[in-house]
Amino acid sequence: MTEKCGVVGVSLDGRNAARPLYYGLYALQHRGQESAGIVTHDGFQQHSHVDTGLVGDVFGEHDLDALAGHAGIGHVRYPTSGSLDTSCAQPFSVSFKSGSLGLSHNGNLVNADEIRDELAGIGHAFTSDGDTEVIAHDLARNLLEEDLIRAVKRTMGRIHGSYSLAISHDETIMGVRDPQGNRPLCLGKLEDGYMIASESAAIDTLDGDLVRDVRPGELVVLRDGGSGFDSYQLFEAENTAHCFFEHVYFARPDSVIDGTLVYEARRELGRKLWEESGVVSDVVMPVPDSGRAFAAGYAEGANEESDADVEFAEGLMKNRYVGRTFIMPTQDERERAVRLKLNPIKSTVEGKSVTLIDDSIVRGTTSTQLVQLLKDCGAAEVHMRIGAPPIVAPCYMGIDMATREELMAADKSTDEIREAIDADSLSYLSVDAVAEVLQRERLDLCLGCVTGEYPYDIEGEATDREVTRPEIGDESVFADD
Ligand code: AMP
Repeated sequence: MTEKCGVVGVSLDGRNAARPLYYGLYALQHRGQESAGIVTHDGFQQHSHVDTGLVGDVFGEHDLDALAGHAGIGHVRYPTSGSLDTSCAQPFSVSFKSGSLGLSHNGNLVNADEIRDELAGIGHAFTSDGDTEVIAHDLARNLLEEDLIRAVKRTMGRIHGSYSLAISHDETIMGVRDPQGNRPLCLGKLEDGYMIASESAAIDTLDGDLVRDVRPGELVVLRDGGSGFDSYQLFEAENTAHCFFEHVYFARPDSVIDGTLVYEARRELGRKLWEESGVVSDVVMPVPDSGRAFAAGYAEGANEESDADVEFAEGLMKNRYVGRTFIMPTQDERERAVRLKLNPIKSTVEGKSVTLIDDSIVRGTTSTQLVQLLKDCGAAEVHMRIGAPPIVAPCYMGIDMATREELMAADKSTDEIREAIDADSLSYLSVDAVAEVLQRERLDLCLGCVTGEYPYDIEGEATDREVTRPEIGDESVFADD
C-alpha cells in the first residue's frame, strides 16, 4: 500500500515526549491527513494513541497526558485509496519477548507481499495489509536472535523499496533511511534532546537546530535521555534515488531537504521555467499554494530578462477550509472542490493576458477548471506553465498519485493537453532542468513518474539503472559518529 506520510521521533532528558511529538506532527500535517498517532515508552511500558483524523482532532489534553515517557515516535498518514482504514493507522506497535516496538513508516516497499507470505508461513499473524506491519514483524523476529543494530541491518537487507522510518524499541528511538534515500528524513538537536523528522520544519517548530539529513542507508540511534546520537552506515548504494517530487510539491517550502531549502529550489525551478519557455504576458499568477514559489521565480526571470514589466499578482484566492481535492473519489466532486477552493479576483484578470503557474498537472482537473474560470472572468489569454515535467506514470514509492489511466499526460502530447485544458499555450519544465536545479545527476533522483523508468524493481515497469539489492555482508556494524 502506497503511503505518503510524515514521521517523527524524539528522545528527551526529563521532559515528556508526547507534546513535542504532537507539535512535530502538526508541522508535518501536510504529509498526511487521514490518521495520526503517537507511541511513547516510559521505561516500563509502551503507550499508544492512534486514530483517524487530523492531528488536532486525534489528540486531546488527556490523551497527551496518558502518553507517558521521555521518548516516542509519531506518524501522520495519507494513503492512496480514498477509503479510511484504521488497521493501517500508525505508528504500528507490538510487544514481544525481547521488548516493545513502535514503527512509523513513510514510503512503500516493493517486496512486502513476499516477506509477509514468508513470515505468515512461520506463524506470524498480520492484522493489516500494510508494509509497516511487515517491517515490524521482520524486525521483531530478528531481535530474537541479534542485537538491535544487527537486527535493523538484517531487516534493511531484506526489505526492498522506499522507507524512512522512525522506530522505537522500548525507550530507544531510531531513524532509518533506505539505501537510496528516496523519502526525506532529518536529524535535529533540541535544547534537551534529539529528534528525527521527515522534514526540518518539524525541528524548527520545536525550536531545534537541524543537524543534518539522515544519510541513505544510515541508522541513527538517539541515546536514551537525549544526550546524543550514534550513527551506523549500514548500507551504501551506488546511486541515490531522492524523490524530486518532494521538492516540487510535497514538502513544505520552509523545509531543507538534502541540503536545499525547498522554497529556493521551487523559485529556481520557476526561473528555469521562464528560461525554457517564457511567454510575455500582462500578469503572472500562481495557483495557490503549490504554484507560489514557482511563479515568484518565473516573474523574477521575466522581469530581469525581458523589457516587459510583468506584474506578479495573486489573482486566485484560496479558501483554506476546503480539504485536498486530490483524493475526492469522483471526478464530479473533484471539479466542485476546485471551484469551492479557488476563486478569481476579477479585476486582476479582466482583459489581460495571464500566465498561470502551477507545480504539476496530474489528472488535469485543476488546470481545466482554472483556465475556464479565468476566461469566464474576462482573461484575454491564459498561458499555463508547469514547474515539473509531465507526469506520465504512477508513483510506487510512497506518493499518492493517480493511476496511469487517470494521468492526463500518460497518453497525450503537450499540445493535446493544451487543447484539452483550453489554454492558449502550455509548457512544462524539462527533466534536465529539474536535475540541474536540484544539483543532482539524473541517476541520483527518482524520476519514475515523469520518465516511466524507476530506480527499483517493479513488476511490469522499466528501470533506469541496474537494480541491485543491498548485500548484508559480514553483518559487522560500527558507529561512525
Ligand atoms: P490535477 O487537478 O489532478 O491535475 O492535480 C494537479 C493539482 O494537484 C496541482 O495543483 C498540484 O499542486 C496538486 N497535486 C499534485 N500532486 C498531488 C498529490 N499527489 N496529492 C495532492 N495534490 C497533488
